[in-house]
Amino acid sequence: MSWHSVRGHDAVVASLKRSLAQGRFPHALFFAGLEGIGKRTLALKLAQGLLCERSSEADLDPCETCPSCLQVKAGNHPDLLQVERPAEKHELPIDVIRTLCRDLGLKPMMGARKIAIVNDADDLNEEAANAFLKTLEEPPPGSVLILVGKSAESQLDTIISRCRVVRFQPLSETELAAVLQEHGVAKDPAEAAHLAKLGEGSVSRARGLASPDIERFRRELFDTLAASEGFDPSALAKRVGEFVKEGGKENVNQRQRASLLMGELARFFRGLLWQTAGLIPPSPDPADRQAIAELATRLEPEDVFVLVDRCLEADYQIHRMAYMPLILESLLHDLGKMINQAHV
Ligand SMILES: [Zn+2]
Repeated sequence: MSWHSVRGHDAVVASLKRSLAQGRFPHALFFAGLEGIGKRTLALKLAQGLLCERSSEADLDPCETCPSCLQVKAGNHPDLLQVERPAEKHELPIDVIRTLCRDLGLKPMMGARKIAIVNDADDLNEEAANAFLKTLEEPPPGSVLILVGKSAESQLDTIISRCRVVRFQPLSETELAAVLQEHGVAKDPAEAAHLAKLGEGSVSRARGLASPDIERFRRELFDTLAASEGFDPSALAKRVGEFVKEGGKENVNQRQRASLLMGELARFFRGLLWQTAGLIPPSPDPADRQAIAELATRLEPEDVFVLVDRCLEADYQIHRMAYMPLILESLLHDLGKMINQAHV
């Protein structure tokens, strides 16, 4: 069952409907969960349901055909405000939040309420978050604020204590496979099932991994890391850098590709963690499992923890717009230090 093509979050929808029916709908919500699992989609659908001119608000069931529903779909409803972190910034700037708060205070143009969706809420800096507090505390009557972020725990207490936190679970493999087929990312059920395993509950992740280039490169990367003779960190950093650049001219595409690779590396090392603990790694790919088995003979679990952490740290730096060649060089150097040393 899916609610207006939003898959996998029926419990979230049911709880929002219950609040509406009881007249206790929160004026500020924080949607928390992994990237690419449908939080934005659900926030938009919720806005559509609240702004729909035909169906009663309490039904939370957008008709999808009235002028208001169509405008939400087209992204130009005057009472739906949406902001996100600009692609070239690592933070949500304070002026974006100030403008949002000001616009939210204006009278609704079409109906009884205004809705604001703040994407990338993890990237609110302290200054911007503070600028937001007054609106969160005393929102204009009828308005609804939806913050969308990865983690409620990394938010300032002052923000999170004023929101109802709604936690989103990663999609199950079955749900994810269904979404991938619906969106044409996978051409058949077998490919959908394979990508759903790799995607770990995230549509955007599975979508990113669907490219044959990525598939080829991750193989090269893992096999190089596991090579019995060790590897040359500088050469590999250069190779990764080139591959990242092939992701597109735009910085944002390159960073997306780099981040995807960091996720894959972290997953590879997590598999290694299973193996060094004497368990069978959950990796769906037999070639991955072979590389993992090879490396596991040379490393201790405590080393592997460090490797996983190091990849997550690099991913964080990528997100913070640090200088890419430096991130890669330093990462591969650290990985090499542990892996090659273990080899000698
Ligand atoms: Zn409608």
